[in-house]
Amino acid sequence: MPDTGYRGRFAPSPTGPLHCGSLIAALGSYLDAKHNNGTWLVRMEDLDSPRTVPGAADTILHTLESIGLHWDETVIYQSHRSAEYDAALHKLNSIGKAYICGCTRKEIADSTLHGIEGQVYPGTCRNGLPEGRQGRAWRALTDSFAISFDDALQGHITQHLENDIGDFVVKRADGLFAYQLAVVVDDAFQRITHVARGADLLSSTPRQIYLQHLLGLSTPTYLHLPVVTNTLGEKLSKQTLAQPINTAFPAALLLNALSFMQQNPPPDLSDYDVTSILDWAAINWDYKALNQVKSICYR
Ligand code: GLU
Repeated sequence: MPDTGYRGRFAPSPTGPLHCGSLIAALGSYLDAKHNNGTWLVRMEDLDSPRTVPGAADTILHTLESIGLHWDETVIYQSHRSAEYDAALHKLNSIGKAYICGCTRKEIADSTLHGIEGQVYPGTCRNGLPEGRQGRAWRALTDSFAISFDDALQGHITQHLENDIGDFVVKRADGLFAYQLAVVVDDAFQRITHVARGADLLSSTPRQIYLQHLLGLSTPTYLHLPVVTNTLGEKLSKQTLAQPINTAFPAALLLNALSFMQQNPPPDLSDYDVTSILDWAAINWDYKALNQVKSICYR
């Protein structure tokens, strides 16, 4: 098969087994890659050690294999890559785009500035730590310029980071690197050209594009898939008690997910194995069938 240069990925956080929300992100990124004769990678986002559940990474990999989603290169683990994140933070600091912040969670919660994700950091430590303050977290210095991108499914998105988000954390007070920094470093390291993931991350994307610009990295194209919600409209996650997917009948599971994704699998596909189902789905993949749908309930 010709190498089209397309490189996609699925990047689960191993905080529990796959549920149908994460299955949609896995399957959507896989089908988009395979439809384009691309390479599909898996990256374990196990940076947040307090939330990582022992054994969950292996369980996720095993589940992916049991439903025929085979990755093309070695799985990388964010917990092994702190030196790379540290180098990126150094670079941001050396160009004056990162600073250490001494504010406590409580002080930030008292901020009267509000953005699209809640409280905006008021910038207290922007010009250096106030006297007698200990450094805690590292923040990226944002500005008022517009950051825009065209999402393949969600349309044209624009944010002004300084007002909409504020100076965001790139290394946490507990010493762990933040998702926003790690994802940018790793997407570049894995030479990802296309990101297909859940639309819950849509509002994070401008932060990631901003960091890519600062670090001199290229920006992949983005396809944000509808978030799967429960009947209360909550995103499926461990917190909302999402059930792990049941892989006892992998073909039925895939067909169900494909129907949910509006891919109209023909009824006679149910007589086939997962490889044939995935081959059909990759050839016929039409992400536009999910057009403008931000959230759908999956039963
Ligand atoms: N690890 C993130 C999650 O499981 C996804 C990150 C990404 O796809 O950029 O929600």
